[in-house]
Amino acid sequence: MTSAPRKYLDYNASAPLRAEARAAMLRALDLPGNPSSVHAEGRHQRAIVDDARDAVAALVNARPSEVVFTSGATESNTWALSAPWTRVAFADVEHVSVREPAAQIAAARGCEAIPLPVSDAGVVDFASAPSGPGTLVVLQMANNETGVLQDVARAGIWATEHGARLHTDAVQAPGRVKIDFASLGVHTMSLSAHKIGGPKGAGALVIGAGVDLDPLFTGGGQEQRRRAGTENVAAIAGFGAAAQAALADLDAAARVQRLRDSLEADILRATPGAVIVAQEAARLPNTSAIALPGTSAETLVIKFDLKGFAVSAGAACSSGKVGASHVLSAMRLKPEIARSAIRVSLGTDTTDADVAAFVAAWRDIHGGASVAA
Ligand code: PMP
Repeated sequence: MTSAPRKYLDYNASAPLRAEARAAMLRALDLPGNPSSVHAEGRHQRAIVDDARDAVAALVNARPSEVVFTSGATESNTWALSAPWTRVAFADVEHVSVREPAAQIAAARGCEAIPLPVSDAGVVDFASAPSGPGTLVVLQMANNETGVLQDVARAGIWATEHGARLHTDAVQAPGRVKIDFASLGVHTMSLSAHKIGGPKGAGALVIGAGVDLDPLFTGGGQEQRRRAGTENVAAIAGFGAAAQAALADLDAAARVQRLRDSLEADILRATPGAVIVAQEAARLPNTSAIALPGTSAETLVIKFDLKGFAVSAGAACSSGKVGASHVLSAMRLKPEIARSAIRVSLGTDTTDADVAAFVAAWRDIHGGASVAA
């Protein structure tokens, strides 16, 4: 018996590697040389890194000189937080790679960690943040669990008016919503290659021209002395190729949103007790957090897995831990809703048939009739 092909609906955890990224990585892997070397081989490596920088800059409308490659968004977030701040303000909906280093740095340096209020719809009230020099406000662009979008542009205006520094974790946004670093008013922005179809273990911190931030890693002159260590050239090449391809994803965003919306409508029809988290909020087009009180997200994820679907319970990074997601708790969802919430995240490769099959599996798992075509 041949089993049905698996359906991957967990793009927010990690998007499948794009063919363009794979090809660019394989080409780079076979080339000798160190990008810091002056010989032809070295210069070729340097050109690969700089072409990738151009592509990543174009994806977010930044200048290439503002893009610094890192090992991923966890490093980028840690770096942005690591300056000697007096106050760091962030909400509980931020990713753990913001919350944990922020709390640790605050405890170690005696700087103040200030919680920002979150509405029931997951929207952060940044205007209550303290202001003035020495203050860092962190505001994610889109939430990885719910897809809720924050008004980063308005926060940028607020930060400029109040003399605060603004960092945004934009990991989930590229290719899904337009990003315009040049006009956002943010000072630093984290990106991650594997969320846009590049390799895992590569990312960037976009640092606005004129923004002063000491390196996190020293001991080498790479990345214009901003991030020491020989560049991961193949991964950076893959990141660049993925960034170039991801720009075109914006054209498919409306189709992805139509798929996501029809998935949600079908789930609500099949199980009227289901709750779509933050359904009325401005959200990413691809993300759906679906709860069915009385069920357990962990069990559901296993049931879907056995049926051939990859979905997740809350954030992939925190799965394996028992307990409700900090994001859903911050939104004051009832514990029985939060405990049952699974995340379905689509990509531009997701088809109508994938969504129909998911809804059929949902009905099957919850004891309903099989879905009509
Ligand atoms: N921020 C957000 C919102 C994320 O979803 C993730 C990945 N789960 C990260 C940061 C961390 O990114 P990376 O895997 O590149 O370290």
